[in-house]
Amino acid sequence: MIVMKFGGSSVANAERIKHVASIIQAYAEKRPAVVLSAMGDTTDHLLDAADMAVRGTVDIEKVEKLHLDTAKELGVDVPAIKELLEELKFLLTGISMLHELTKRTRDYLVSFGERMSVRMMAAYLAQQGTPAKFYDAWDIGMVSDSNYMSAELLDEVWENIPKALNSYKNGEQKEIPIVTGFIAKDKNGIITTLGRGGSDLSATMIGAAMDAEEIQTWKDVDGILTTDPRIVKEARPVPEVTYEEAQELAMFGSQVLHPRSMIPCRKTGTPVRVKNSYNIKSEGSVIVEKHTGATPRVTAITSVKNVTLIDIQSSGMFGAAGFLAHIFNQFLKWNISIDVIATSEVSVSLTVNTKANLEGLIEDLERVAEVNVKACKSIVTLICDASHSSSILADAFAALNKENINVQMISQGASKVNISMLVDSDQTNQVVQILHTALFD
Ligand code: ASP
Ligand code: MG
Repeated sequence: MIVMKFGGSSVANAERIKHVASIIQAYAEKRPAVVLSAMGDTTDHLLDAADMAVRGTVDIEKVEKLHLDTAKELGVDVPAIKELLEELKFLLTGISMLHELTKRTRDYLVSFGERMSVRMMAAYLAQQGTPAKFYDAWDIGMVSDSNYMSAELLDEVWENIPKALNSYKNGEQKEIPIVTGFIAKDKNGIITTLGRGGSDLSATMIGAAMDAEEIQTWKDVDGILTTDPRIVKEARPVPEVTYEEAQELAMFGSQVLHPRSMIPCRKTGTPVRVKNSYNIKSEGSVIVEKHTGATPRVTAITSVKNVTLIDIQSSGMFGAAGFLAHIFNQFLKWNISIDVIATSEVSVSLTVNTKANLEGLIEDLERVAEVNVKACKSIVTLICDASHSSSILADAFAALNKENINVQMISQGASKVNISMLVDSDQTNQVVQILHTALFD
């Protein structure tokens, strides 16, 4: 058995759905279980519709038209989608009357995207003579906590999924399961979501729990690339990365996989293959526990924009125990997540997402230290074999120095697979280009 996951752009319209159906059929012998995202930008459109509803306007035209037109073009009749669209209208009407949208309601609302796309695909496959059956995540036992918009799956999922899918795995059930990514239900039966891009996690969870031969996530590019091809056109495919590297890639801006998606498959060692739906024959990139050959010096370069640097300095820190604990407690108090840190004996520099509201935090920090906040920064991350950090950094900094680029902070993650540096946002692309040339060419 294998798991095949297709993201929103892979199922964005009738033509793409037909193409995906043909890929699924090509792998029929491997007994695939399929995980789907919502069609195209449906999740974003649902969120927009929710915002409008809060302000009093109910409008789901975009979502409705996309789904009904697609069904028509595919020549399938899907009353189940029409029912969901009706329910969706009711929900938006409710929101528009209350002028209120809780996280819980937001999750319920975005769940319609995935629920409609699996119904569409199952209907189309069946029409093409390939028996398929759609499942909402909870039908296969995807239970999560109640942390809406970013829920965590509970441990019992490891037992629930095989109970639901074993009969397919052992050949008793003929219909290919088409399962919603991204969504789950909590213990009280309330719909939750696993965070944006969460379908990857749904897929790796199913693959790991089913002890699948392989989990495939299908993209529109040749697997994992050395860097963003929109920044560096010489970016090239990386044949193999480790779970650890993939996790760092996801944390530091690569759009390849959901950051948490490596957690289940890492437990079981199930390989994840990132494949290109436009180039089926290509092997893509495989994510595994350990490199099969020598660990490459540098695997990839990623960047994240919209980062704010917070510099905290205090002579009180010198030799003092618990100073950092106090600082970090303030971040906990204000629920602000830290991305990268560097410290010296009297200062600590750290980065946070620019969207975070820092007012209260800064006020608290200023009680004990001098605080400087600088917005418009970016983190550029080298996913590399940090045991060769001196030679990598020598090459990197020689190249940056030649172009007069000043790196404002540098941090080597304990994971030993990443080195991150902070630069001005407007220099991000240039820095990535310089480093790509210096380290890959
Ligand atoms: N549809 C959801 C999103 O756009 C989940 C996913 O695509 O993985 O975030
Ligand atoms: Mg999506």
